[in-house]
Amino acid sequence: MNGGGRSFDDLKPGMVTLIGVPSDENSSFMQGAAHAPARIRAALYSGASNLCAESGVDVGAEPRWRDVGDLELDHSATTVEQIECAIGTLLERGVRVLALGGDHAITYPIVRAFAARYHALNLLHLDAHPDLYDDYEGNPHSHASPFARIMEEDLVRRLVQVGIRTMNPHQRAQAERFRVEVIDMLRWQPGMRWQFDGPVYLSLDMDVLDPAFAPGVSHHEPGGLSTREIVRLIQDLDAPIVGADIVEFNPERDPLGITASAAAKVLKEISASMLVMSDPTLQAR
Ligand code: MN
Ligand code: MN
Repeated sequence: MNGGGRSFDDLKPGMVTLIGVPSDENSSFMQGAAHAPARIRAALYSGASNLCAESGVDVGAEPRWRDVGDLELDHSATTVEQIECAIGTLLERGVRVLALGGDHAITYPIVRAFAARYHALNLLHLDAHPDLYDDYEGNPHSHASPFARIMEEDLVRRLVQVGIRTMNPHQRAQAERFRVEVIDMLRWQPGMRWQFDGPVYLSLDMDVLDPAFAPGVSHHEPGGLSTREIVRLIQDLDAPIVGADIVEFNPERDPLGITASAAAKVLKEISASMLVMSDPTLQAR
């Protein structure tokens, strides 16, 4: 099973679609994240495990779950424009989208596409880094900047960041300017829950996990969450997830495949949550 081609013709409203977005051109420190979708799929479909979430939802047997393959990026437009257009095409079909990055720069165009269709979207962002730089090394589309772009365009009602452990003065000022709700690792406690009124977009940077659990990321930042804690956080989310991304997995730093299997694990849990909480009457415009 590899997901086949990119035909969207048979997608039906309410489906959950998995799409790879193999882009790392906006990474600042090292490349490699563009190879992540293929490696996460290899772990997901490996005979070493199955496609069941812990709740028993069998994602692989679920007709409402569909892997539509990778977005084919070319030089016809900017990467940002192509991502927004492709995700918008999927959303027009009434489906939910789970995107596999790629680096974190992909989240800005994805959330733009969502904001065109969802009122009052809540954004839950799990990351070691706030990614709020006005620009990074002159690049406003850097993977260190997507949440600055999202907030200055007022694309979401709330931005809640969890797992942060690299806040610097510039980004702290940005967080205050945009009224970001930051739960940094200094204040984080196991079992914390968040209430969201309305649909949630979940953006999961793999470096929110401690490097002991997910070494395959470009920016190692010790002192993070365990795989168990992230899985629990997803399972405890009492809100409909209408879209999500899993970003910043870098296969170049994952020789044992530990991070790929952690990404596949959270993919299954997010998919199960999307399937169980599905509701066609959600606030789609
Ligand atoms: Mn990030
Ligand atoms: Mn990060």
